[in-house]
Amino acid sequence: MRIVIAGAGIGGLTAAMCLHRAGFDVEVFEAVSTLKPLGVGINIQAGAVRILSSLGLEPALATTGIETRELRYANRHGQTIWADPRGRHAGLPWPQFSIHRGELQMILFDAARRMLGEGRIKFGRRICGFEQNGRKIRARFADRDGTIVEQTEADLLIGADGIHSAVRAHFYPGEGPPKWQGILMWRGVTIGKPYLGGATMVQAGHHTQKFVCYPISRAHAERGEALINWICDLHMGDKAMLPREDWNRPGTLGDFLPRFENWKFDWLDVPGVIKAAHTILEFPMVDRDPLPRWSHGRITLLGDAAHPMYPIGSNGASQAIIDGEAITQELSVGDDPERALQRYEQRRLPPMARIVESNRRKGIDIMLDIVEERAPQGFSDLDSVLPPDELEKIVSDYKKLAAQDRDTLLKLAAAKA
Ligand SMILES: Cc1cc2nc3c(=O)[nH]c(=O)nc-3n(C[C@H](O)[C@H](O)[C@H](O)COP(=O)(O)OP(=O)(O)OC[C@H]3O[C@@H](n4cnc5c(N)ncnc54)[C@H](O)[C@@H]3O)c2cc1C
Repeated sequence: MRIVIAGAGIGGLTAAMCLHRAGFDVEVFEAVSTLKPLGVGINIQAGAVRILSSLGLEPALATTGIETRELRYANRHGQTIWADPRGRHAGLPWPQFSIHRGELQMILFDAARRMLGEGRIKFGRRICGFEQNGRKIRARFADRDGTIVEQTEADLLIGADGIHSAVRAHFYPGEGPPKWQGILMWRGVTIGKPYLGGATMVQAGHHTQKFVCYPISRAHAERGEALINWICDLHMGDKAMLPREDWNRPGTLGDFLPRFENWKFDWLDVPGVIKAAHTILEFPMVDRDPLPRWSHGRITLLGDAAHPMYPIGSNGASQAIIDGEAITQELSVGDDPERALQRYEQRRLPPMARIVESNRRKGIDIMLDIVEERAPQGFSDLDSVLPPDELEKIVSDYKKLAAQDRDTLLKLAAAKA
């Protein structure tokens, strides 16, 4: 069966490798003419590392990124609300990695090119139209000027073409741009000193003003430094206009640094980290409404094309990777491919819709807002501000929702063994 994937991002490349390994004939068509290591940091949760490890990629991830030891939530005074060991440090069979998004994409691309063969991942080919006739799909691809440069036939088409998916827009032409609720993110990378042991992901503050950071480079760690990926979230008020989305839009310090100027924790000088950045990008926090369906005959959606979500709980890349395994497992049953795509959708759409909706309600970050509301000046006894059973419920509900809870992951490990 010939499967065409539109988009060589994190989800498309993972799906291509999983499908190829299962014996499908796969070709990937990517819009950009050359892959550049764009973006800043990204996290891959243990449940997604499980899939990349099965593709032989764990050594490359481990030598490039940082094996995340701990996720720590803190208030805007730097006081710890919740600290959770991650990956192998939590007794799971797989690590969690924090890594530069561009480097992750390059690791996936190099592996996919080796597996699929030279020329099976084609660049400068933006999917711009397709028709489905019975069992065949005919798709057209254009270069950056809009000139059609290739047409191809396939038995199946997967739209893994990101948040602005052309495949999605074909089925939902009136959907319009992604949705924004007023939060802007400034994302940067700074070479600094390791903090909290050198492998901790931090979420500090509250929903309308938050600082997130995590180290992303093993090479820097080996030199005694930390390449710190950081994100400042600020709510801009209801009247602000949605800025143009562009992962490469440069940010300006003056727009957000003053709000973080006094965030000097005893374990991290937040304004110091921000000022020393060598890259700052500005991006609106956007998502899209969950769709009623992803699969239409022999065409379906995957990753951000299917379920773009707020970057809360480190789910974007991880869930795109999990989609790639899920679609492969359903197609490998070997029955009617349309039925397989329906099963893929039934398996993945409801939980992804729940994460999108939960993230709109702040997801696991709700604990930050509760503490800010109840103890804006800080606390001397956390338990009296956020009792342990209330905190435990927030955490376990979100982990179950994202299928990142220990029981689910250990069941997967047992099934593999
Ligand atoms: C340039 C870029 C930088 C990013 N940087 C970050 C970051 O720093 N941190 C973070 O958390 N997330 C980042 N993201 C988003 C993150 O990669 C995704 O949220 C997540 O990994 C889900 O992956 P995906 O494969 O579904 O989508 P993506 O990783 O967005 O990949 C989609 C791919 O489809 C290609 N494409 C788009 N339109 C078409 C078309 N019509 N035809 C063919 N191909 C098409 C895109 O060029 C891209 O390669 C970035 C995305 C991009 C595109």
